[in-house]
Amino acid sequence: MYVYADCAATTEMSNKAIDAMTNIMKEIYGNPSSLHSVGQKAAEYLLQARIDVADAIGADFKEIYFTSGGSEADNQALVSAAYFGKLKGKNHLISTTIEHHAILHTLEKLKKEGFEVTLVEVEENGIVDPKKIEEAITEKTALVTVMFANNEIGTIQPIKEIGKICKEKQVLFHTDAVQAVGHVPVNVKELGVDLLSLSAHKFHGPKGIGVLYASKKVPLTNIIEGGAQERGKRAGTENLAGIVSMATALKESVNNIEDKIKKTEERRKQIIEGLSQISHSILNGDANKRLPGNVNFCFEGIEGESLLLLLDSKGVAASSGSACTSGSLDPSHVLLAIGRPHEIAHGSLRLSFDETLTEEEVKHIIQSTKEVVEYLRSISPVWDELERGEINHVI
Ligand SMILES: *Cc1c(COP(=O)(O)O)cnc(C)c1O
Repeated sequence: MYVYADCAATTEMSNKAIDAMTNIMKEIYGNPSSLHSVGQKAAEYLLQARIDVADAIGADFKEIYFTSGGSEADNQALVSAAYFGKLKGKNHLISTTIEHHAILHTLEKLKKEGFEVTLVEVEENGIVDPKKIEEAITEKTALVTVMFANNEIGTIQPIKEIGKICKEKQVLFHTDAVQAVGHVPVNVKELGVDLLSLSAHKFHGPKGIGVLYASKKVPLTNIIEGGAQERGKRAGTENLAGIVSMATALKESVNNIEDKIKKTEERRKQIIEGLSQISHSILNGDANKRLPGNVNFCFEGIEGESLLLLLDSKGVAASSGSACTSGSLDPSHVLLAIGRPHEIAHGSLRLSFDETLTEEEVKHIIQSTKEVVEYLRSISPVWDELERGEINHVI
């Protein structure tokens, strides 16, 4: 048995998304900007995909900008809001300590351009207190950006509450909803967000395609200059196969979403119960306010990389932290932000899945993890010292 439990890194494409993509590649090869009928056929597909994506998140189709993915959407959202603020004498940006690097690194870049950045700390459960966001807002604040759901520990942030605060204070609000869209209901109008990022490959669509939602009140700054595609805000011939495939995958994902959530949450509960039986283990992030398909644990005395490699050899594809940071030996900034000490932040396991995960697969995940943790502890000098009481357990 081989179980893929790394959906937060990327998902397998759905058959419908693949079919939509190949159909466009074979049949609808025109350039949507061309005036002839081959081009206009492509333009029709482009418009329909824009409408479908807009409908899925409660937006107007004129507020949808296709990008090369979540990272580009995040970059453009932050740069646009910052530059728009600057025109009005505002140079302050607010975010949290647990954002994706597409946000954190863009904020670093803006800091070098003279913007001031406040990163609000999250609580121990991995959720930011909206009051702390409110307290951080000054008359210089141009933007608040808070992720919808964390990509490592799955915690869901109080976006609606923060949206309300931002509206009252007349500050622009962006959310990186890459982990949320297609997995939990997302409606831009209900949430009160001005900007939102999403990415197709996190909901069974293709890689390299995403969306920036921008309400009409936010003038966008181009990241890519060139032709007049995307209402002049994102140049380059549209990736029509990717766009139509993404719209197909999104429609599929939001269909019956409540049923899928229930089913996925049941699997989550089973995995959490199973892994909690391992001694000196701890669940990272709030037990309930998290993505239906996210489980993240720390095991004391374990090194994350060895855990992943051995799990892979037993037929479980999982992750430690995010795909972007594994390969570096630094512990996850998210686990450090929720107060996990360095020595255990290294031993984390992220399992991310959806409603297709079967009960047999859940059992396989739990059994394999128990065996691997036990084996790694049996050969660990640190675990030996912990057991003999020479150093103290932290969890
Ligand atoms: C995956 C991810 C991104 C990056 O999206 P890409 O399409 O891979 O560029 C950004 N933010 C979060 C929260 C993510 O999980």
